[in-house]
Amino acid sequence: MTVSTTTQRWLDSEQRYDSGVFNKHPLVLVRGQNTTVWDAEGRAYLDCATGAGVASVGHCNPDVVHAIQQQAATLLTVAQTIPNDKRAEFLEVLTSLLPDALQRVFLCNSGTEAMEAAKKFAVTATRRSKFIAMKRGFSGRSLGALAFTWEPAYREPFGAILDGANVEFIAYGDTQALQAAVDDSVAAVILEPVQGEGGVRPADLTFMQAARDLTRQHGALLILDEIQTGFGRTGKMFAMEHFGIVPDGVTLAKAMGGGLPIGAFVTTADVASRMPKGGHGGTFGGNPLAMAAGTAAMRFIARERLAEHAAEKGAYFRQQLRSITNPKIREVRGLGLMIGVELKQKSAPIITALEQHEGVLALPATSLVVRFLPPLTITHDEIDQVVTAFERVLQRT
Ligand SMILES: *Cc1c(COP(=O)(O)O)cnc(C)c1O
Repeated sequence: MTVSTTTQRWLDSEQRYDSGVFNKHPLVLVRGQNTTVWDAEGRAYLDCATGAGVASVGHCNPDVVHAIQQQAATLLTVAQTIPNDKRAEFLEVLTSLLPDALQRVFLCNSGTEAMEAAKKFAVTATRRSKFIAMKRGFSGRSLGALAFTWEPAYREPFGAILDGANVEFIAYGDTQALQAAVDDSVAAVILEPVQGEGGVRPADLTFMQAARDLTRQHGALLILDEIQTGFGRTGKMFAMEHFGIVPDGVTLAKAMGGGLPIGAFVTTADVASRMPKGGHGGTFGGNPLAMAAGTAAMRFIARERLAEHAAEKGAYFRQQLRSITNPKIREVRGLGLMIGVELKQKSAPIITALEQHEGVLALPATSLVVRFLPPLTITHDEIDQVVTAFERVLQRT
């Protein structure tokens, strides 16, 4: 595809100056509104990638934009040692959405930072250092978070430095393995209620309930990573609600800021009370701009009942995908608007064709899965367009 000279300049500059760790797409996105994003050539795309589930309230959600504009002109930075009106309001709204037991919040700027906090709080709460993590689990890319991330390709280049971490990986869903692994030396079991990067795999009820019971019996914490599943994505405000369990801690990020960088680890009063003052911290966490945006996003999700929309539209989306008869499809799965289609072939060429020929952005999740994480505001008509595009691409590619 030929592009204008300005677009080409932007593409070239990113190619030339970026660190090189990212596989860059051949397009320059410049604008977004709700489910649609536009490239510098004026071409529209239906966004079912949303920065891996960040834009749940839609791109440039008017409430979020308004909150950011107001706050940008009011106050941008306040250290966490000094209280701030927007932060207090954010904490009130966030804790009102979570179960009563989860009321102590550590604020930060990303999912990875939330995971780092979770582990530090688990260590100080239990005075133990062993962790149980899940095969195919994803926890982030810092050296600390990487120790809990399964994918060997992410870990191998850093093997030696990760060796010190005391992490045992068990198969996701294997209750017997969990039983064997959890003992009185374990600080925490960490898992995603639906594995995202690992291929869009919802946990099963027995496994989740066993994780809750076993950790409680052995004085270990259960920490749920709801960075991708939180805030309505799976059809409940938090995915833990599908399993009827309340963990000792939950990590949140992605959709929580309405598009701004944000992260949080939320835990019980008991766990929080055992972290010493000054035991953790951060410069930008809880900044008024992210707080204002996050409050607007969370209020929008609650007021517009986006979790219920995600449940209904997700079921419709999966049903439409399942009605495609194509031998390349192995399985359609997911929860709410967190949807994966496992193929019998590599998903990358399908995702590229969707972007280039159909104007649909989707994500991989392992090499065989096409993952759809649209805004929770997506319409049935837009779902139909995505499904039709996917069907055409499967036939052609
Ligand atoms: C995205 C993600 C992370 C890491 O979050 P970042 O904001 O990229 O640091 C961790 N866990 C899960 C489940 C995620 O989806």
